[in-house]
Amino acid sequence: MTKQELLKTHFGYDTFREGQEAVIDALLAGKDVLAVMPTGAGKSICYQVPALMMKGITLVISPLISLMKDQVRSLNQAGISAAYLNSSLTQGQYFTALRYAKAGRYSIIYVAPERLTTEAFLDFALSADISMIAVDEAHCVSQWGQDFRPSYLKIAEFVAQLPKRPVIGAFTATATKEVREDIARLLGLQDPFCTTTGFDRENLYFAVKTPKDKYKEVHDYILEHPDDSGIIYCLTRKLVEEVCGKLIRDGITATRYHAGLSDEERRNNQDDFIYDRCRVMVATNAFGMGIDKSDVRYVIHYNMPKNMEGYYQEAGRAGRDGDPAECILLYSGKDVVTNQYLIERGQDNQEMEAAAWRLVRERDQERLKQMTFYCFTHDCLREYILKYFGEYGKSYCGNCLNCQTEFEEQDVSREARAMIRCVESSGQRYGVTVILDTLRGASTAKIRQYEMDGNPEYGVCAKIPAHRLRQIFNYLVLKEYLYLTDDGYTIVKLTAASRSLLEEAHILTMKMPKEQEPKKKEKRSRLPKSAVGELGEQDEPLFQKLRALRLEIAREEKIPPYMVFSDKTLIHMCLLKPGNEEEMLNVTGVGRHKYEKYGKRFIDAVQKL
Ligand code: ADP
Ligand code: ZN
Repeated sequence: MTKQELLKTHFGYDTFREGQEAVIDALLAGKDVLAVMPTGAGKSICYQVPALMMKGITLVISPLISLMKDQVRSLNQAGISAAYLNSSLTQGQYFTALRYAKAGRYSIIYVAPERLTTEAFLDFALSADISMIAVDEAHCVSQWGQDFRPSYLKIAEFVAQLPKRPVIGAFTATATKEVREDIARLLGLQDPFCTTTGFDRENLYFAVKTPKDKYKEVHDYILEHPDDSGIIYCLTRKLVEEVCGKLIRDGITATRYHAGLSDEERRNNQDDFIYDRCRVMVATNAFGMGIDKSDVRYVIHYNMPKNMEGYYQEAGRAGRDGDPAECILLYSGKDVVTNQYLIERGQDNQEMEAAAWRLVRERDQERLKQMTFYCFTHDCLREYILKYFGEYGKSYCGNCLNCQTEFEEQDVSREARAMIRCVESSGQRYGVTVILDTLRGASTAKIRQYEMDGNPEYGVCAKIPAHRLRQIFNYLVLKEYLYLTDDGYTIVKLTAASRSLLEEAHILTMKMPKEQEPKKKEKRSRLPKSAVGELGEQDEPLFQKLRALRLEIAREEKIPPYMVFSDKTLIHMCLLKPGNEEEMLNVTGVGRHKYEKYGKRFIDAVQKL
């Protein structure tokens, strides 16, 4: 079969996405590949399709066990024989799988990096016909990546021992130059074909909000999207417990995930989410790597994460099916402090030399700063993200909160000057809260203790709301008229540019959101957001029926509903109303294999409405 035919037969898709074809062609031509593609772009197809066209076995090296299980299950669903080898198997299962592997039963085998250099595995690998090695999450090999794993360094050692060198494909969503170079060098790629596909995920909507009450914001959002699956990311385990507990008390079917839970609970909770028994997952960043739940409709960050790489990866778990999805970040100043603490603490946990650690820490601080600026900017959020990953964005995307907010230029020179004078006259010794409280003329214990109520700037901005002052302050930091120290205590300092602002002739303006009328509540439809514009109210009964059938099948086969068919496929069925095999095969996401398993039942459902 050709690659197109394989794509259609096994995965049910008609066309390749950007970048996929070139990678597949290179691998088939025996050329190593280094592919940088954002989360959700479709990396797996890039090695799964050529794996099916090669004579020998493809080994997929992947860092997380949950990822392997999920991928293998999906492949089996698509009629492809695959297996995984990792520590979740009992010894008996492990040796059985190896025996089958030796007998050539699998075309794709997922393996954890720690396994590679074990005796039993080597024994198999040395005699097997291995055509390709695909390294997933390849940035794990680099110390500059966000999640360095020393066991990834074993990959090159393993390859060197093989009698015949297979072609190697490395895949990652991390785009920085250092990481790319490390991957090529440490995996020993030979003159690789390098490709970076667009980082833009057009179906994702981005927003940053600074609500007074984060919990209420999340709670209301969930109530407005009762049928959607979503992930709430929190920075700490404690917060996961707190938020999840409150949601459950408020009658929402939420579940939780963090490294402090037992393996069993984590697995159960994850399954509850994947199988749609729970709509909301509250988790730390320990959750999600390798979870290919394609119909996650929103990802809310309860806290700002510590870098853009992490943010985009986590946010990118929304809308992998290509349908509209929302990524909302709830920012508060405290998040910066918590992240700083986490960065400092990371120091004791790693076995790295002091010098290396200093570098890593400096980089982490810089990354945190860039993340913070994302939360402050009033420009297009998508553009900010794309620029961060080294691409040019349009300055207006129309699908982020900033693009949709009406701003007006306002003169903030007076407030800016007051801030700078206040920092200067108090000796550059205090944090943000003290400075802003002074300007507002607050009478807190700290203000009295530091005698800031005697400062010449005390109360000069008393009429300006606190959140507005905050925005102006953040803007000054963004524009480098002020800066914050990052050695544990965040102290406000002047910069070389500060003084220029004090001149009367210097006018500083910034974009401020216009005060807006509260939005009218739209009538709620039970159709998923992705169907809006595609399906009308009259299609709703059929859509709900197909959805129910999907759930029924998922329960019978003990697989997640989206593995039967995606929402997109169901929507397409509502539009085409297929009455026979040929028509059913025209529906996106319906391949030959799935047609044989489910086609008839869905045709019946469509026809017998
Ligand atoms: P990544 O590993 O890059 O995060 P995945 O490989 O998990 O992304 O793919 C994300 C989603 O996109 C999956 O649901 C996958 O089935 C889907 N997908 C991949 N390639 C295509 C394609 N050519 N057409 C339609 N959907 C695709
Ligand atoms: Zn935008």
